[in-house]
Amino acid sequence: MDMPIPNAAIVACKSAIVARLRSVLPADAVISDPAETRAYECDALTAYRCAPLVVVLPRTTAEVAAVLGICHEEQVPVVPRGSGTSLAGGALPTADCVILGVSRMNAVLETDYDNRFIRVQSGRTNLSVTGAIEADGWFYAPDPSSQLACAIAGNIAMNSGGAHCLKYGVTTNNLLGVTLVQMDGTVVEVGGPWLDSGGIDLLGVICGSEGQLGVVTEATLRILPKPEGARPVLVGFNSNEVAGTCVSDIIKAGILPVAIEFMDRPCIRATEAFAKAGYPDCEALLIIEVEGSPSEIAEQLSRIKAIAMTHNPVEFREAADEDQAKRIWLGRKSSFGAMGQINDYMCLDGTIPVSALPYVLRRIGEMSAACGLDVGNVFHAGDGNMHPLILFDANKPGDLERCEAFGADILKLCVEVGGCLTGEHGVGIEKRDLMAVQFNPVDLEAQLRVKDVFDPAWLLNPAKVFPLDVTAGRRAG
Ligand SMILES: Cc1cc2nc3c(=O)[nH]c(=O)nc-3n(C[C@H](O)[C@H](O)[C@H](O)COP(=O)(O)OP(=O)(O)OC[C@H]3O[C@@H](n4cnc5c(N)ncnc54)[C@H](O)[C@@H]3O)c2cc1C
Repeated sequence: MDMPIPNAAIVACKSAIVARLRSVLPADAVISDPAETRAYECDALTAYRCAPLVVVLPRTTAEVAAVLGICHEEQVPVVPRGSGTSLAGGALPTADCVILGVSRMNAVLETDYDNRFIRVQSGRTNLSVTGAIEADGWFYAPDPSSQLACAIAGNIAMNSGGAHCLKYGVTTNNLLGVTLVQMDGTVVEVGGPWLDSGGIDLLGVICGSEGQLGVVTEATLRILPKPEGARPVLVGFNSNEVAGTCVSDIIKAGILPVAIEFMDRPCIRATEAFAKAGYPDCEALLIIEVEGSPSEIAEQLSRIKAIAMTHNPVEFREAADEDQAKRIWLGRKSSFGAMGQINDYMCLDGTIPVSALPYVLRRIGEMSAACGLDVGNVFHAGDGNMHPLILFDANKPGDLERCEAFGADILKLCVEVGGCLTGEHGVGIEKRDLMAVQFNPVDLEAQLRVKDVFDPAWLLNPAKVFPLDVTAGRRAG
């Protein structure tokens, strides 16, 4: 994985830059000791590491604006960071960059149940947004599996999703407004506590822009009343393809469960050893959750059961109570950690049309056998968002490169069947060089021009999202 050569002139000016940053921030908000900046050398794509020049941890929008103003004047690249859980390397530093972390900006600023919104500082973790309102019967819908740790800032930058996004949509469908600080320190408000605003949909441009356009410091989020009830079922199958066909049939029938999650045998076995959730030892399983009133739940489950039974499942397990429901979800929620116990893995994130699931699962199995690296599949099947986890040994020379090449082939397959490179994790550095597979040069140029408008000097997270050769002229300028 190539990264740009750090700008030696910036690295040489480190003490002057640190002194300027200390002049606008409290002493504990500027970290420049190499022993401490190492804590920020990677995100959750741990295969790639580089310590930054300096880390700043502001507490207010005004402090963020002051930092960006200085970096703009000094022409220092800035990499925004939430909680550092990106699986695409979106928060990976360069040696000449300032990491601007928003983790100390975690306050709830306003809660308005009459108008169904909450306004928070962007460093607040996803789960603690719901935590602030659940006692009053409300919740924030997007639920990445990393929700205990990841910040709303990163969710907005990556347009994150989660298990329950099949029904409620991903971050962009639940984001009403942001406070954005531009690279020159200008603070702008985009959107607000209403469902739509006049003019061009700039909020839609900012959500999913991976820290390329500005630093989000505050967010207004749509909140929802908690449903009356919810119930998951677990359905086991003796074939990945049959499980995939079952998903496609449920969606085709017009049923809208709140979640349809898929796990294959390698993930089921690893998860059982780790979390002991009591899953059946089968080739593939689906967790399907529906919600509503008791009669709505019963009606949806009977339709789902009828469809599942036409595919001869080895098990159809309905949660009878809250405890059983928790056990059904326990394995799925522990699955990434469980896979991490058995090997290093790279988690991919391609999206495909749901009807292509059986074909793509079969092809991934064939490709895995041909390249000799095992793959576990655990993903949001209802919206076609695949997460093949390629197992490799980081200590074995050549394994990472084999894994990268295999991952690239899987993502190309996703594009080939009419899908796209990313569903929720973003492009980062991981899929940067594959952007040319999905977009032609004219499409790419149009996207670069959007960044030109927001960040003409290309200082914000400049080595991400677009192939380095395509952005070379702009980054140098
Ligand atoms: C175990 C595990 C499970 C996961 N499951 C899911 C899942 O189910 N769904 C999902 O969508 N993702 C998932 N992820 C990926 C990750 O958690 C999400 O991408 C998350 O939104 C990243 O948030 P973060 O705060 O950690 O962002 P970071 O990793 O810190 O940064 C991510 C990106 O956001 C940018 N950014 C950060 N802060 C700002 C800001 N203030 N302004 C502008 N840009 C900013 C960064 O520059 C970077 O490009 C998972 C990750 C792990 C490790």
